[in-house]
Amino acid sequence: MTAKILDGNALSATLRESLRERAAALAAQGCKPGLAVLLVGENPASQVYVRNKIKACETVGLHSEKYDYPADVAPPVVFERIAALNADPNIHGILVQLPLPSQFDEDAVLEAISPEKDVDGFNAVNVGLLMQGSPRFISCTPYGVMQMLKAEGVSLKGKEAVVVGRSNIVGKPMAMLLLGANATVTVCHSQTADLAAHTRRADVLIAAVGRPKMITGDMVKPGAVVIDVGINRLADGKLCGDMDFESTKEVASLITPVPGGVGPMTITMLLTNTIEAAERAAEHKEK
Ligand code: NDP
Repeated sequence: MTAKILDGNALSATLRESLRERAAALAAQGCKPGLAVLLVGENPASQVYVRNKIKACETVGLHSEKYDYPADVAPPVVFERIAALNADPNIHGILVQLPLPSQFDEDAVLEAISPEKDVDGFNAVNVGLLMQGSPRFISCTPYGVMQMLKAEGVSLKGKEAVVVGRSNIVGKPMAMLLLGANATVTVCHSQTADLAAHTRRADVLIAAVGRPKMITGDMVKPGAVVIDVGINRLADGKLCGDMDFESTKEVASLITPVPGGVGPMTITMLLTNTIEAAERAAEHKEK
């Protein structure tokens, strides 16, 4: 079997068409969606991510604001900015690029963002709502994965889903979403005793580890749907996922490539969350 390759760029482009229309409709009502991005320090990867997010806003007609701070900025300066953005009616989404330098308590920063503007879905209120099965903002990467599965018509009901990785950003919310879609979910991590025994049972396998090509084709159930969230840079500068793509594509029925799979979907879901926030704000204004 050679797996069908899921093109995250193509699906993103389709979804962004409708986002553009929704943004234009909001702008016509005088409620142009706005995203504020805060970046602390000079981490080159973070700089690239932030640049791509700002650029993506432009492609669908969102207003964006970028706030840069030196690595040694005093935390109160950033907290003051977040408070001002929380109160700013032109801003519907606030994102603080992680990781933050060591003088910051990351959880405290995330909690300072108004839950109504927490478009990354990292705030405890939004994590709790997801846990309760009534999500408001879903963190962008797992949200993007669910959109990819939906677009391919992958049925999750009663399926064995295995998530490798349990981070707050990807693994845990991913597991909650799969559970909400009636899959039977197993979450693996660095202390899992026999990883292959779990991955081989998976009808839907999600890899979110951060280790290049760690999961190989012999660890995959024939016909499985495989979503590779990992983004790893190899010594030659090329990107690869957590799946060994070459061996997995011979076993799986569907697989996402890296790059060009989940990555573009993550930014598209950030735009989606910002537009949803603006739509809720516009509705609130009308009442
Ligand atoms: P974290 O480092 O926060 O989490 C990694 C998880 O993998 C942990 O739960 C860890 O377990 C688990 N793990 C580590 N080693 C093993 C192992 N040998 N076997 C099984 N599990 C293991 O990473 P993130 O969740 O933030 O990111 C994961 C990957 O996804 C990274 O490559 C990242 O770059 C990528 N990513 C991609 C995005 C996209 O848009 N495509 C967005 C966000 C992330 P433990 O908890 O026990 O330590």
